Amino acid sequence: MKYVEPAPINRNDDDPFESMMSRFEIAADILGLDSGTFDYLKTPQMQVTVSIPIKLDDGTIKVFEGLRIIHSSVRGPSKGGIRFHPDVNVQEVKALAAWMTWKCAVVNIPFGGAKGGIICDPRKLTKVELEKITRRYTGNLLDVFGPERDIPAPDVNTDEQIMGWIMDTYSMHIRHTESAVVTGKPGNLGGSAGRRKATGRGVRIVSEAAMEQIGLQPEGAKISIQGFGNVGAVAAEEFSEIGAKVVAISDVTGGYYNPAGIDIEHAIRHRKENDGLLTDFPGAEKISNEALLELECDILAPCALENVINRKNADKIKAKIIIEGANGPTTAKADAILDKKGILVVPDILANAGGVSVSYFEWVQNRIGYYWSEDDVNERLQRILTEAYASVRKRSEKHNVNMRIGAYVLAIERVANALKLRGIYG
Ligand code: GLU
Repeated sequence: MKYVEPAPINRNDDDPFESMMSRFEIAADILGLDSGTFDYLKTPQMQVTVSIPIKLDDGTIKVFEGLRIIHSSVRGPSKGGIRFHPDVNVQEVKALAAWMTWKCAVVNIPFGGAKGGIICDPRKLTKVELEKITRRYTGNLLDVFGPERDIPAPDVNTDEQIMGWIMDTYSMHIRHTESAVVTGKPGNLGGSAGRRKATGRGVRIVSEAAMEQIGLQPEGAKISIQGFGNVGAVAAEEFSEIGAKVVAISDVTGGYYNPAGIDIEHAIRHRKENDGLLTDFPGAEKISNEALLELECDILAPCALENVINRKNADKIKAKIIIEGANGPTTAKADAILDKKGILVVPDILANAGGVSVSYFEWVQNRIGYYWSEDDVNERLQRILTEAYASVRKRSEKHNVNMRIGAYVLAIERVANALKLRGIYG
């Protein structure tokens, strides 16, 4: 495999949009993209900032800031989650929106890409306050959202209940129930069977393909997972079900390591009893989140936030395979270091695409008004991801590049082709 040169030195390795652009440039070069198309595809189509004033439970008024960035609607309505986090910022959301465009193109679903965020710490807010923030954000974005325009979904710290409030707020304004305006809803509000588990399940599906690629047996394979939220915890369950050994898990309280294998059901029960956190989880040794990344293991699955594998620690990673359950967990400068070490990296835009794939199924079911069984959904998910994996692998072999660049090439080509066929209005 060709050694991918590190990003130019002037790029800021901590800036997710710069990291996205570094890979985009390499792929555009392989595709021989003309400079006009290059500019078109790198520029977000729309960036909206909204203020969200709400009355807190103590009667005081607080103004939050919300963002929605639509990167592209070339291949269809834009699609992407909304995150609630104190560190949300424009550069991050811009990168996440672009990654959604590439992700939807990799799995070949008819969506563009977008992302949203609200700068807040949901742990410090009550349920009533969270509902007010969600509704005001949605109210401010009524002209942006829509089942044919821009369709939000869950992301970091947002869940089914929040999607239900978005659906209700939008529906109240347009005077009829519009379930297809948002995905990841509760089951009895039009949510798809299998949506909640889809991202974690997808992580397992692509992991099996990667293990097959390098000739690794799933039984007893040692897995370290960073993040124990909707992605990491479900992936842990799925890995246990196929007989792999999850040796480390983590969340904001730190890492938990047990070389004999962690009882995942126990960890999930413990999390439930401890306010959603793994605090003092027994049956494992306490380590740091950083140490978790450097453990001896077969698969490392970062399933939390961006930039955790970077130029400072990439050289210390001992896993054979990295499966990016999170968006942007590896910086562009780390890519080259991991390539040199011969680590197989399954990139975010393929590895965590199970979520948006089932979001697409949810949107389809909402629009036809007929609902599929979970088996049906899972079978379609399996098919979509194994086909995408094979296509990305083929691309990376064809151009002699890593799987990430293979995925970018495939995605950018699909978006550029759609753009060519649509033409430019103006
Ligand atoms: N937030 C998820 C992601 O990053 C899901 C997006 C969606 O379903 O629209 O892929």
